[in-house]
Amino acid sequence: MTPLQRASLSTRRLWMALLLAAAVILGAHTALTIAVSGQAAPEVIAIDTAFAVVLLGVAGWFLGRLRRERQRAAVESLLLDLLSTPRNIRDTATEALRLIDEHRLGEAAAVAIAGEEDGAMRPLAATGYPRGWLETAPAARVETVARETEWKRAKVPHPWVEPVAGRLGGRPWVADIPLRSGSDPIGLLLVASRRPTLLEHRGLRELLAERLGAAFDHAALYEAAYRRERDLEDQEVRRREFIASISHEIRTPLTSIQAFAELLQLDQGALDDTARDLVASLSGGVERLSALVNDLIELGRTSDVPLEPHRRDVDVAHLLREAEATVRPAMMLRGQSFVLDLPIPELHAFVDPRMLEQAVLNLLSNAARYTPAGGAITIQAYPWGEGNVRIEVSDSGPGIAPEERERIFEPYYRVKATERAVPGSGLGLAVARRLVEACGGKIWAEEAATGGARFCIEVHA
Ligand code: ADP
Repeated sequence: MTPLQRASLSTRRLWMALLLAAAVILGAHTALTIAVSGQAAPEVIAIDTAFAVVLLGVAGWFLGRLRRERQRAAVESLLLDLLSTPRNIRDTATEALRLIDEHRLGEAAAVAIAGEEDGAMRPLAATGYPRGWLETAPAARVETVARETEWKRAKVPHPWVEPVAGRLGGRPWVADIPLRSGSDPIGLLLVASRRPTLLEHRGLRELLAERLGAAFDHAALYEAAYRRERDLEDQEVRRREFIASISHEIRTPLTSIQAFAELLQLDQGALDDTARDLVASLSGGVERLSALVNDLIELGRTSDVPLEPHRRDVDVAHLLREAEATVRPAMMLRGQSFVLDLPIPELHAFVDPRMLEQAVLNLLSNAARYTPAGGAITIQAYPWGEGNVRIEVSDSGPGIAPEERERIFEPYYRVKATERAVPGSGLGLAVARRLVEACGGKIWAEEAATGGARFCIEVHA
């Protein structure tokens, strides 16, 4: 027995019990009066009867309400599952029809939902209809959905009742239940039956309309979220492919630049001291660029590949000077001032030097790119806390809004305000964080005293 039938049956039993009790009390009172007075006084019988009628009227009204309340609670619990399980729109419609079938709310039912583009409402699930009806069912305009739920004998021809009218005795009872998202109509549930069902109660129909509307709202959100997730996955795959292919493209010319620099270095006589320094700087830069490209290829393949740091005691001042030599030409070209501030010249850290240098270079190259021409860039390093070293890269550029300071370390994330002015991939900081963390350190962004950005790296000494 379904919960709905159980709710009706228990109120019916209560009804019977009440009728029986009223008859017994009335009979006993009349019998007692006759026994005491020795005759059946008509006025006593009249008063008893009037009393019984009023009593039964009140009880009937009360029981009617109780019955509806119980049925409502039963429908509510049935619909709860529909709301609590995430489903797409089609599955929600099928599940709603299964409930209608199982709880005998109707003999045939159809759910129609308005399409996003044309607003035409097409039945997308049906039960009790001839096979193949869904494919040929006519569409209706969503504007034609009534505001209120309705319960009436079908007006034939009704395009969605006609196919089942013959089986349901010509003019079946029909419940028209509009489905809404907020106040906007989104579809219709139509239930047809040979005889009246519980859906003749308006309260029940309204409950069904409200809960089904909410279930379809959930389903639409679920589908949108699912679509978005798939789009993001596609985008991610395309991005990775792009990064992988562009990185391979860059590697080829880099290899030849590296080879020419080595050739020049070998031909000692051809270069004076300044030229030799410049070629050494060029060679070092190309080497680091190759390392970055390798990182990119690795990151494009999978961001889960663990890095293998080779940590050792590293002279931080020396490392920073090397980094300075690499980026100074770019800063000079942009008329930016660059200060390397080492209050304590002897500074050591226990890190992988290649990784730390790459991370610092990424920060310096960002400082140079995001700071306008003529701006100021500073790099500072000093001992911090118990056995740590801090390296800070500050600039006088636009700075980074507090809510963006964590997100900029996500791969491919770029701040909207600056992404047009400065081209980039959104990978530099993600790579820097990976490298610093692989060395056992941490990296974060804050605001510089000048209002620009300050990036801090903290590693073990
Ligand atoms: P890219 O610079 O290629 O976009 P990054 O990962 O290096 O990628 O940086 C992520 C984002 O962080 C940048 O798009 C930029 O918006 C912001 N950013 C990084 N460094 C700075 C800086 N020094 N000043 C202002 N914004 C910065």
